[in-house]
Amino acid sequence: MNYNLSIYHATQFKFFFRAPSEKKNGNNTATVFLEKDQERNNAFKDEFIRCRVCNHKITTHKEKININDSHYHTFANPNGMIFDIGCYKTALGCLNTGPPTEEFSWFKGYSWQVAICASCLAHLGWVFLSANNNFFYGLIIDRLIDSIK
Ligand SMILES: [Zn+2]
Repeated sequence: MNYNLSIYHATQFKFFFRAPSEKKNGNNTATVFLEKDQERNNAFKDEFIRCRVCNHKITTHKEKININDSHYHTFANPNGMIFDIGCYKTALGCLNTGPPTEEFSWFKGYSWQVAICASCLAHLGWVFLSANNNFFYGLIIDRLIDSIK
């Protein structure tokens, strides 16, 4: 009887001392979740695609679109300079400069304007405009910081 009782007590004893540690593990789990949230928040911040010169927010990953079945395109300008560009629905961090022109347009049916960083004025690419007022941005990949590329 005493033996059984001491087992009972030992069990209770063990349980009593295990309970706080389980609670602690629970807290640790919550801490891990908080850290995951923080990582997600940081990842969200990194969703911005930024100007490589000045870090200004130019656009986001959600704005990536395909034009003619591809996000990425490689073109040469009339001077033979090669540009690797990505296509974006909007680029709120850009300013469009100069009059629209159809000369040497890389996308049939679109005229273009030069797109520059609204903060440091670096040339980042072009905005392409269609006759029915659709537009998209073609931005030079190596002039941007794209952390999720
Ligand atoms: Zn800039």
